[in-house]
Amino acid sequence: MDIVEKHRAKCTKCGLCLEVCPRYNDLDLLDRLYGYLDGSSDIDAESLLRCLTCGLCTDACPEELGIKVLISPARQKWVSENGLSDRQTMADPEAENNLFKKIAEMDETPVYRKSSGSVVYFPGCAGTYINKIMAQAAVALLEKAAIDYTVLSGVEYCCGAVSAGAGDMGPIRRNGPRNVEEIRKRGAKTLITACPGCFKAFKDLYPRMFGKLDFEVMHVSQYFELLIREGKLAPMTVLKHRVFYHDPCHLTRGMGVHREARGVLESIEGTELANKTPENSACCGFGGGVRVNYPSESLVVASDRYRAARELGCDIIVTNCGGCMQNLIEAGKEVTEAGKEEKIKIFDLAEYLSLACGIEIEREDSRMLELVNRAYRLCISGYEKSKGL
Ligand code: SF4
Ligand code: SF4
Repeated sequence: MDIVEKHRAKCTKCGLCLEVCPRYNDLDLLDRLYGYLDGSSDIDAESLLRCLTCGLCTDACPEELGIKVLISPARQKWVSENGLSDRQTMADPEAENNLFKKIAEMDETPVYRKSSGSVVYFPGCAGTYINKIMAQAAVALLEKAAIDYTVLSGVEYCCGAVSAGAGDMGPIRRNGPRNVEEIRKRGAKTLITACPGCFKAFKDLYPRMFGKLDFEVMHVSQYFELLIREGKLAPMTVLKHRVFYHDPCHLTRGMGVHREARGVLESIEGTELANKTPENSACCGFGGGVRVNYPSESLVVASDRYRAARELGCDIIVTNCGGCMQNLIEAGKEVTEAGKEEKIKIFDLAEYLSLACGIEIEREDSRMLELVNRAYRLCISGYEKSKGL
């Protein structure tokens, strides 16, 4: 049974998916998606582009369906029929207006010298070009734990997950086998990824598309939690903070990984975790192309998360994803009165753990935001970010 038949047969139109969805409010969308996918009617691009791919609808659906399961194939159909917009090609490593190539032209990228090791760290495009602090912190922790590691990075190795989410399967088909070969050549037994999107690509999509991998795939939160349990990392510095852990959608809902990051935070003396489970977790507003297609709406969603942390009395938000980190930092600046300092600081998990392990890494939030927004403007015609929330 294909997805449209299955959805039509099982969906009771109860509307529970819409109750949790930050982006849609009209159940007719389901009929429009059925019609577009079975070829009986057309659909407008807006109906497809608004989805964050956050998976909240699928989690809420008693039939485990939701809206996203129809949006994904509909986006692929749309791209095959209508081609790619400049907002979509900017995630394609081979496109002229690739976002990360533009950033690499404007800013230095880290150089990693060691070319082999039993553990490969994959910083992904975000860790290499935008949220470099994620990669700096992770590499510093691997050094501290004396791990035999190497780093695989560079725009040519984009995992392809972002493009796939937008309906363009080209980059993942081209880069998947190439990535797997590069990791094999380095003799790796374990691959650890910075971003949840890369994690989903390697752990879930690549094996389904290209066959079983001969190395283990872990997210950094899982790997660092393991290193702490094995005694290879010892967070000794007391960090007195009330912390809100922001669950990245593609990690928590997409891959079911949420305990390990919390385990890392709870191992740090002085740190009090405000949300011990992913209950009530929600999207940061970045994913599914929404950050580039609807910048100000994306930041409204992120601001809700920032306020949720504030209501719980937190002074730090820790997250585990380049997109979440970027959006939450930007939302913090948007909701803070001009001239005042943000009340809540946003940290990547590896960065926070580094501090607890006595490693200081310089933060460059404002510079990072300036750089990435400049790159958006160069890559996307008519890009404008409204300040109005
Ligand atoms: S929650 Fe599930 S069953 Fe209910 S309307 Fe949404 S997709 Fe249909
Ligand atoms: S994935 Fe998220 S944004 Fe997309 S339809 Fe589901 S709840 Fe809404």
